[in-house]
Amino acid sequence: MPQPPAPAYTYAAMPTAPCFSAVPDAAGHFGLYGGTYVPETLNAALTQLRDAYAQARADPAFTADLTRLLRDYVGRPTPLYFAQRLSAQAGGARIYLKREDLAHTGAHKINNALGQGLLTVRMGKKRVIAETGAGQHGVATATAAAMLGLACDVYMGTEDMRRQRPNVLRMQMLGARVIGVESGDRTLKNALNQALRDWMESSSHTHYIIGSVAGPHPFPVMVRDFQAIIGTECRRQCLQQIGRLPETIVACVGGGSNAAGIFYPFVNDPEVKLIGVEAGGRGPGLGDNAASISHGAPGILHGSRSYVIQDPDGQTASVHSISAGLDYPGVGPEHAYWHDTGRAQYLAVTDQQALEAFQRLTRAEGIIPALESSHAVAYALQLAPTLGPQAAIVVNLSGRGDKDLDEVVRLLGR
Ligand SMILES: *Cc1c(COP(=O)(O)O)cnc(C)c1O
Repeated sequence: MPQPPAPAYTYAAMPTAPCFSAVPDAAGHFGLYGGTYVPETLNAALTQLRDAYAQARADPAFTADLTRLLRDYVGRPTPLYFAQRLSAQAGGARIYLKREDLAHTGAHKINNALGQGLLTVRMGKKRVIAETGAGQHGVATATAAAMLGLACDVYMGTEDMRRQRPNVLRMQMLGARVIGVESGDRTLKNALNQALRDWMESSSHTHYIIGSVAGPHPFPVMVRDFQAIIGTECRRQCLQQIGRLPETIVACVGGGSNAAGIFYPFVNDPEVKLIGVEAGGRGPGLGDNAASISHGAPGILHGSRSYVIQDPDGQTASVHSISAGLDYPGVGPEHAYWHDTGRAQYLAVTDQQALEAFQRLTRAEGIIPALESSHAVAYALQLAPTLGPQAAIVVNLSGRGDKDLDEVVRLLGR
């Protein structure tokens, strides 16, 4: 039986870092990061959301509903798979894959969309809105909305609509309206601004389902909690299948939700190394990558304070990644906190390395990973030979790669 999303783990239990004891505070601050930087018109909606979420978490009926849907609708628990051939080829540590690619709609995003969808019903609201870049969060939200009988509008940059046409069609088939956003560079950042603007006017009857551990409090905490089912299952599976906890857990980081979801239940296990892999793109230059912690600086974006990729004037910069899901100039505030306190390490993997890892996993195991997840696989392949054969690395395989085939074929020049 899958467990409900992780209850409040107390950072205080972590003996090596007493400073973890007070995060987040009541206003959603993870140390210097997080918080609520929004126009006043959104305060009422955020307060209502905080209260509704706190009540839902404490209500066994909500947990029971979510647990049942995660099992029967999403297909949880997702397996922990020992990638024997990939490990043998890498030489060294055993590489395990947490198979979020097998979740309904093909990625971890459904865990969060479903949790927030149920919360929407509980708040008595009839409509959800979402922003989407690659379209994966839009598809997950449109899916949850169809199943729960909610109206659904998804904001998407027109450039992204062009690049991600199959996902636009999926959302429309599911009954969602996809609203093209023409402003700025017509990608995710602008779609997010537009969705926030909609919510300012519609929050009496509409819930805004943010797709990652970003945005104003309580989104970073709430989305992490809904995604923590990944780490909760993984922890139990490691104990059953490996007989102990793994040496290292590796996850790709866009906004940071799949990483936060698998990291969080291990935060109080200091012997487990947590590694977040950002999109290194074409290299370290401004505009060439989307590695917010590696190449950004503290700033405010979309309602909270975290690392943001900025130009020399402090404006949020345009970013690049081979994978649309990592193509975001910010990162969740809890990752900024884990970075600064040393609980997790963050590094970047380039487009080229991710593309190579995509091919290696596909050929070695018959699993076609998302280009996002391929970043985590790439780092695991570098790390494995430096560890002994007794060591275990868990990679969060956040999604499947069917959506990326056209792009990969184009890049490989076939
Ligand atoms: C959206 C997406 C990501 C990036 O989002 P996070 O919030 O960082 O998890 C990673 N992998 C896949 C498959 C995605 O769809």
